[in-house]
Amino acid sequence: MITHSQPPKLKQSWQHALSNAINNADDLLEKLGLSGHLQAIDKDKIRQFPLRVPQSYVDKMRYGDANDPLLRQVFPLIDEGYPAEGYLTDPVGDHLAVTSPGILQKYQGRALLLTTGACAIHCRYCFRRHFPYSDSNPLSSQWQQSIEQLASDETISEVILSGGDPLSLHDDKLAKLVADLAEIPHLKRLRIHTRLPIVLPERINDSLLNWIQATRFKVVVVIHANHANEIDAHAEQALISLKQAGCQLLNQTVLLRGINDSVESLSALSERLNDVDVMPYYLHLLDKVAGAQHFDVNQVRAVKLVDDLRKVLPGYLVPRLVREQQGEASKTVIR
Ligand SMILES: *Cc1c(COP(=O)(O)O)cnc(C)c1O
Ligand code: SF4
Repeated sequence: MITHSQPPKLKQSWQHALSNAINNADDLLEKLGLSGHLQAIDKDKIRQFPLRVPQSYVDKMRYGDANDPLLRQVFPLIDEGYPAEGYLTDPVGDHLAVTSPGILQKYQGRALLLTTGACAIHCRYCFRRHFPYSDSNPLSSQWQQSIEQLASDETISEVILSGGDPLSLHDDKLAKLVADLAEIPHLKRLRIHTRLPIVLPERINDSLLNWIQATRFKVVVVIHANHANEIDAHAEQALISLKQAGCQLLNQTVLLRGINDSVESLSALSERLNDVDVMPYYLHLLDKVAGAQHFDVNQVRAVKLVDDLRKVLPGYLVPRLVREQQGEASKTVIR
């Protein structure tokens, strides 16, 4: 039997941790002893998607290392402003797939509910960085309409809560939404796409675990970790709690230049995920979103990386390399 030692309790409530998130490049560099080491893009140019990172995530960065893989995911480098051909504001065609306010339906049987535009962290490579959330009304006041649409379409068996990050909403709202969804007989599974167990582990608290345990749904939680260093003792505890509440845990990763584009980094991530009972699911090629061109790893290199990964890991720890292509009936599996 494996016993897990408890990490020291995180003292703040998640709401408090969220409101204390760092939102200034100079402050972030100063905390890491890196003042003047990285050049940030002008604030005005990223007004829609400013720097945002919770302190507990900063605590996992290496002090004094400008190439730290966690720092690089959140730091708004000046490179974001350089023009790049072929990089778009909506690279995956999400605007076209909005079937009613707040619902994205691209694939058979699955509907993705945009519950909120908010995230606890702003990942600089995010393909939703230009998404006009307020226009597609992903607000709780519109949920009724979304629920009615889901109820009227019997081909849908799985609802995916996404956003933004659905767990940045309060539990009373989420519990009500999930209870309403559970009234729809043809819905079998509830999937939650969230980065919060990794970037704000405080969020996985009793009130969340309570409604997860209470629902009739089979609950699948797809987390998003890109690097083994992200899964510290606090994140581990959060994941164990979700597992104990009955969730199936999967991980998706974005392949990012300078962050995880090596066999060592990807295999360490898979091993770490396995330690905490999370199955590697997808390894995404970067969506070509404007401002993220400096993270791109080309497909030929990506395929080679996955082939090399397969040589050092058991098959079940090798994620599927996928790309999102507009108009396709599923994610496109490359390897
Ligand atoms: C990725 C995605 C899904 C889920 O796809 P799976 O292959 O089942 O993980 C569902 N809807 C949309 C809009 C997506 O982008
Ligand atoms: S948590 Fe997910 S949705 Fe939010 S900014 Fe990061 S990648 Fe984008």
